[in-house]
Amino acid sequence: MEAGKSKKSKTSAPVNKNLLRAIPQVDEVLQWLSPGTDAPIFLIKQAVREELERLRRNILAGNKTGKNDLSKKTLVGEIQQILKAKLEPNFKRLINGTGVVIHTNLGRSILPDSAREALVEAGTRYSNLEFDLATGKRGSRYSLVEQLLCDLTGAEAALVVNNNAAAVLLVLDTLANGREVVVSRGQLVEIGGSFRIPEVMAKSGARMIEVGATNRTHLKDYEGAISEETSMLLKVHASNFKMVGFTKEVSAEELVELAGRYKLLVMEDLGSGCLIDMSRYGLRKEPTVQETVKAGVDVVTFSGDKLLGGPQAGLIVGKRDIIERIKRNQLNRALRIDKFTLAALETILRLYYDTETAVSRVPTLAMLTAAPEIMERRAKRLARRVKKSLAEKCNIAVRVTGSRVGGGALPEEDIESRAVVLEPRDRTVNELEKSLRLNPLPVIGRIEDDRYILDMRTVADDEVPLIANILGQVFGVNL
Ligand SMILES: *Cc1c(COP(=O)(O)O)cnc(C)c1O
Repeated sequence: MEAGKSKKSKTSAPVNKNLLRAIPQVDEVLQWLSPGTDAPIFLIKQAVREELERLRRNILAGNKTGKNDLSKKTLVGEIQQILKAKLEPNFKRLINGTGVVIHTNLGRSILPDSAREALVEAGTRYSNLEFDLATGKRGSRYSLVEQLLCDLTGAEAALVVNNNAAAVLLVLDTLANGREVVVSRGQLVEIGGSFRIPEVMAKSGARMIEVGATNRTHLKDYEGAISEETSMLLKVHASNFKMVGFTKEVSAEELVELAGRYKLLVMEDLGSGCLIDMSRYGLRKEPTVQETVKAGVDVVTFSGDKLLGGPQAGLIVGKRDIIERIKRNQLNRALRIDKFTLAALETILRLYYDTETAVSRVPTLAMLTAAPEIMERRAKRLARRVKKSLAEKCNIAVRVTGSRVGGGALPEEDIESRAVVLEPRDRTVNELEKSLRLNPLPVIGRIEDDRYILDMRTVADDEVPLIANILGQVFGVNL
């Protein structure tokens, strides 16, 4: 279709040479814009060139372009628009109406307001980041959260790095470089396209020995693969998919027992490390970090921004001698955690001293455990605000929907929620999705069965009036 169209325009619409000649010069347009345009001159020039180039291309393509498009008023208006977009930050807040709580593309976990002060202070003041106040000597940054992590997980020692992928790489590089690591075929997971256990293992210099069948791995499979070259048995939590049917996994306890007999190490990559048994709140049981440590696993790695609900980080906990070896690895320096992350992480970890406090104040946990009535109230508030004014243009209803945990945790599990469901009458649902997405404060929902769904689980109470206003603007009505 595209090709046909361009062919037609070539033959039937001769290029309007007069119009091309009427395109003003860059300098002339710059005169029109100054004074009064508050932007760096290089950006103004860039915007002018982009707009003039766009007009030139449109004229050459025979697209509808008239004298009016070249008028001073229209051009200045268009260029101001381009400049406005260029001056806006690229990295911006948005409203998550997807219902996916740990949405990797939308920033994974969000921090509680109480972390704000710690973050600002870490950034704007000097700190004891690597300074031991007791001795007045150089300290290590991860020591600031090590005791906290040990208290919460029962581990002997801990350190934190940039993210869990870095944690896995660092541990494997320290303990298994040039040696063999035995892992179940059913656990060679890929996370988000850019992290695959086999690839990370290859990077670390460890040789992967896969055992078992895709769906079933037995203890004897591991035992059969052990050789002189083996350094560790690795267990990976298959966090973002679920195997159902005829399946078998070997427990951490069994692996620890086997490793003990052969003097090998056991590592578990928990992925979405959870410190609270979420089955107490109606979610499916996931192994907690404490349980994994208690099983006798030598080293456990997990993410800071998945179920823990903190900043991006890779947490490593385990036996003291093992952790000390990991801390001495030169790679550690390249994977180190930054001060903002540390400040936020400490704030979050302290909330975990009391389970109820963590569940109510860590946003990820609060959202995951929110009762359907909370989302129902939010949905009704939003619907009430916009229903009358939008009545002609859009059908609005409150419906039951299912939210997802996301972040590769508890896949396949829908948690009951409520959504505001929009069926526009004056435009397609895709057009509605696009205008909400391109709003200065973008609103991201999902489309299901030709309806636009805003799941209220991931929308904050104070965002309800914002969404109402945005809907009013998008549909061009006064609320
Ligand atoms: C998410 C995940 C990772 C990667 O963690 P990041 O913090 O995103 O680097 C590694 N392993 C497992 C099992 C995971 O679920």
